[in-house]
Amino acid sequence: MSFNTLGFSNALLKAINKKGYTTPSPIQEKAIPPILEKKDVLASAQTGTGKTAGFTLPLLQLLSQGQKLRKRPVRALVLTPTRELAAQILDNVKAYSEFLDLRSMVIFGGVNANPQIRALRSGVDILVATPGRLLDLHNQRALSLANIEILVLDEADRMLDMGFQRDLNKILKLLPAKRQNLLFSATFSKEIKQLANGILNHPVWVEA
Ligand code: AMP
Repeated sequence: MSFNTLGFSNALLKAINKKGYTTPSPIQEKAIPPILEKKDVLASAQTGTGKTAGFTLPLLQLLSQGQKLRKRPVRALVLTPTRELAAQILDNVKAYSEFLDLRSMVIFGGVNANPQIRALRSGVDILVATPGRLLDLHNQRALSLANIEILVLDEADRMLDMGFQRDLNKILKLLPAKRQNLLFSATFSKEIKQLANGILNHPVWVEA
C-alpha cells in the first residue's frame, strides 16, 4: 500500500515524502480511511507505531478541505497528558502541514502563559494541549472551543492514570456536541472503555 491511494492532497503527500515515509504503517492503514470519512475512531496503538501521523495526517486533510473561518478559531483540538508528548505532536503537525495554509500551536503548563495567550489571539487552526493549561487559558477567556470540529485524545490511558478525568469532563462540556472524536490508547481498562463510551459515537475500532 502507498500513501497515494489514501486520498491526501498533493501538499500533504509532498510533506509525507519529505519525511521519507514510503508506506503507511498498519495503524495508519487502518485508522486513516475512517477518519477521512469523518467517523469516530477508537484506536488501540502503542507509541512507536506511527499513531501520531495516523491521526495528524487525516486531520490536516479534513481541515484543509473544510471551510476556513475568518477569525481562525480553533477547529481541531489534540489533548495529550504531558508537555513532552504535546511538543512532539506539534512537531509532527508542523512538519506535515508545511505546505498547507493551517496554523498550529501547543499549550502546556509549567511555563509562562502570556506568550501562549498572545499567540492564541492571532488565530490557530490546530491546538495541541495538556488538559490543565487548556482549562486555565479557557477560564482566562484566551480561547474559544466553540468551533472544534475534531477532538483527539492521545494516550487516553495515561491521561486517566495522571488524574485528568475531571479536567477532561470539564473540557468536553465546552465543546460543540457535533464533532468528530478520535481516541488513541495503548491499553483498554474498564475506565478507558467508559470514557470512550461517553465520548465516541458508533466508533470504528482499529488496532495496530
Ligand atoms: P509515533 O508512534 O507516532 O510516535 O511514531 C513513531 C516514529 O515513526 C516517528 O519517528 C515517526 O516519524 C515515524 N513514522 C510514522 N509514520 C511512518 C511511516 N509511515 N513510515 C516510516 N516512519 C514513520
